[in-house]
Amino acid sequence: MTVRHVAVLLFVAMITSFAGVSILVVRLGEDAKWSAWFYAVPFIWGIILTSLRCPRCRHHVFKHEAKLFGVRWTYWSPEMRERCIECGFPFGDSS
Ligand SMILES: [Zn+2]
Repeated sequence: MTVRHVAVLLFVAMITSFAGVSILVVRLGEDAKWSAWFYAVPFIWGIILTSLRCPRCRHHVFKHEAKLFGVRWTYWSPEMRERCIECGFPFGDSS
C-alpha cells in the first residue's frame, strides 16, 4: 500500500466519520449536548492524516517548502506531491 493510498483512506475515514457524527448529533439534538464530543473521532483521523510521513526520510508528506526572497519557508498544504521533497521517494508507486 502506497503513501497516497493511506492518505486517501484516512481522508475518506475522516469525511465519513464527520458525516456520521453530524447525523448522530442532529438526531440526538438538544437532549445530549455531550454528543459534540463524538467530533473527536474525525478530528483524530485528521491528526493521523496530517502526521503522515515519508517512509524513507520521515519528512511530513503535507509539509512543503517554498523559496521566497532567498529565504526557505515551510508551510502545510493538503496538496500531495508525486515525490518526497526531501529524498525524492515516490508516494504514488508501490513501495
Ligand atoms: Zn522522503
